[in-house]
Amino acid sequence: MLNIVVFGAPGCGKGTQSELIVKNYDLFHISTGSTLRSEIEKQTELGKLAEEYINNGHLLPDDLTIKMLVDILESNPDEKGFIFDGFPRTIVQAETLDRLLRERNTGITAGFNLDVEEEMLIERMSKRGKEQGRCDDTPDTIRKRLEIYRIRTEPLIAYYKKQGKLFMIKGNKPVEDVFESIREILDRLIYQNK
Ligand code: ADP
Repeated sequence: MLNIVVFGAPGCGKGTQSELIVKNYDLFHISTGSTLRSEIEKQTELGKLAEEYINNGHLLPDDLTIKMLVDILESNPDEKGFIFDGFPRTIVQAETLDRLLRERNTGITAGFNLDVEEEMLIERMSKRGKEQGRCDDTPDTIRKRLEIYRIRTEPLIAYYKKQGKLFMIKGNKPVEDVFESIREILDRLIYQNK
């Protein structure tokens, strides 16, 4: 199995790159952010709970996102591999994901961090807020999300580095160029995995 984590600050382009990866490789896309947005739209129990956290720029409690992830993994037992986009976002989530995959006799193959400087992140999110009306892309919430990213999610860089699985990708280039950097590494990993 090939299991890839794509992570980075909000606005780094992980959603876009994950879409491109699943279009080109036989992997199943798990985006906790889009799953939650659709739960909110349908106003399910989880959606109602998630709404306030997301609109305020906060992370959901780990137990909620972990349960959501377990449900997705269990409903897709025959996939050849996964792209984890938006999960893990905390060390507890990363440790849990390692354990869940170990129980399924597999593990994370690589963690891609999309690295983009703060000014560009703010610019991209403000543009997305205007174009797509995402209610967490407002100036105050953007600042909050960046702050939470630095504290809670950035430590994942050290976590995957220690496991020898980290790939830092410059995310400040055009979409196709960023994807080209990812593709090169993925092709190599697939070759080594054979
Ligand atoms: P972005 O990376 O642009 O912030 P996402 O679509 O990945 O956007 O996530 C949107 C929001 O959903 C996050 O700000 C957070 O509130 C919530 N969320 C998504 N995944 C998780 C997670 N693994 N743990 C906690 N909260 C999450």
